[in-house]
This record gives sequence, structure tokens and C-alpha cells, in this order.
Amino acid sequence: MLSVLVTGANRGLGLEFTRQYLDAGWRVIATCRAPHEAPELRELAKRYEHLAIHAIDVRNFVAIDQLASALADQPLDVLINNAGVYGDKPGNGFGSIDYGLWQDVLKTNTLAPVKLSESFLAHLRRGSRKLIVGITSLMGSMGDNTSGNAICYRSSKAALNAAFKSLSLDLKPLGIGVLILNPGWVLTDMGGPEATTTVEQSITGMRRIIDQYTPALSGRFMNFDGRELPW
Ligand code: NDP
Repeated sequence: MLSVLVTGANRGLGLEFTRQYLDAGWRVIATCRAPHEAPELRELAKRYEHLAIHAIDVRNFVAIDQLASALADQPLDVLINNAGVYGDKPGNGFGSIDYGLWQDVLKTNTLAPVKLSESFLAHLRRGSRKLIVGITSLMGSMGDNTSGNAICYRSSKAALNAAFKSLSLDLKPLGIGVLILNPGWVLTDMGGPEATTTVEQSITGMRRIIDQYTPALSGRFMNFDGRELPW
């Protein structure tokens, strides 16, 4: 049975990744900060015996290592680094930047995906798909930035892109692929009610890319619909 680990699985895109992979018959390791406050995940756990839920705040690197040790005997096919924060305005805009907030956004959106990739590398090496996915944002693109603002968020996703580009080259000799995926502008708490893409469309598109992965896609910045994006 194929397996996937999803961070931030309690709502939004992470919850839909979890739903769709369970429906597809995968074993899902769903991680979130507070499983006891995740009713949708707990409902899914009643229906699918191949769903395991673990409490992980991705900023807690000790907890990440503990989970990796606890799951040491299990191969992992795909690691999906989905958990992310935007950083509340006004602390995200020039002139009133909250530097503590910026550090927190960087730790969650940039450092944590790299840490998870390091901690679960051994599991991925034993999996058959051997894929690390970073859920980034078009807001991390410098080529696409024509409106400014959102300094904390944009820089955290641009740094994630840079880090995962390196990871794709570093892990090539091990046969591990790295996908850098923009989910689109999606109707979630983060995307807001004006967003143009449903969670189903976004996750269906990203799952298609994951399913059809070939090494030529590793280290490329791609939209959920398969289009390549400007760095
Ligand atoms: P939501 O705000 O709906 O969900 C964010 C998820 O991340 C929640 O599950 C949240 O958990 C989790 N999370 C945040 N911080 C942590 C943490 N420290 N540890 C563990 N989990 C955490 O956002 P989306 O579902 O829309 O976003 C998912 C990803 O997609 C993010 O990386 C985001 O940047 C990216 N993205 C989204 C876009 C959109 O339009 N929606 C556009 C581009 C990128 P909790 O409930 O505990 O807060």
C-alpha cells in the first residue's frame, strides 16, 4: 500500500489531500497541531483504518524527530509539506513589520519543510515513489511580483523555492524527487472567499502531477494545473 505524510491535515488543502489519498486507497499519516480539535479528521478515522493521526506543530523540531523515530520501521512514498501561515497584516507590510512574526512565518513555511525532509529521508529512501512535495505559492515568485507587500509571506515562499531547488539537486543521486507546487488561489481560510479555485480542483491537479511524476519535473516550479511558473 502506498503511503503519504501530510502536514497541516486538519483543514484546507491538507484535509483535502488526506481525503483524496484515503479514497485512492493510500495509507495516510495525517499530522496537525491539535488532533483533538480536528473533527473532520476524526470522522475520516472512523471510516478509514489506514489513516493515522499524529500531533505535530511543524515548528517543533524535537517532535518531528520523535515522530520520525516512532515511524522508523515504515517506508514513506510521498512527503507533503503543506502546513503554512500567511502572517497577519499589518505585521507583513513595510513600515510596520513585526520581526517576531516574520521569524515565525519563516520557521513554519521554510525551515520546517526542510527539517521534515531531513527527518523522513530514511523513510522516503525505502518507499517506492521517493517524492518530497513543497506546497509553495505564486507569491514566492519574483518574476510574478508586480504588487509588492506581504514581505514575510513572499520571502518565506521564495526561500522555500530556493531551498527545495537545492534539495532537488542534492537528492538526485538518491533517486528522490522534489516537487515545488503552487496550489492556485484556493477557497480555504487562507485563500479567502474570493479565490478562484476549489480545494477539489487544486488537490486533484496536484495529485495528478505527483502521480505522473518523472525525474524531469524535480526542482521545477509548477502550478497545480501542470503549467511551469516563473521563479
Ligand atoms: P489554511 O489557512 O486553510 O490552512 C493552513 C494549515 O496549516 C492548517 O491546517 C494549519 O493548522 C496548518 N498550520 C499552520 N501553522 C502550523 C504549524 N506551526 N504546525 C502545523 N500546522 C500548521 O491554508 P491552506 O490550506 O490554503 O494552505 C495550505 C498551504 O497552501 C500553505 O502552505 C499555503 O501557504 C499554501 N497556499 C495556499 C493558497 C491559497 O490560495 N489557499 C495559495 C498559495 C499557497 P491550524 O488549524 O492548527 O492552524
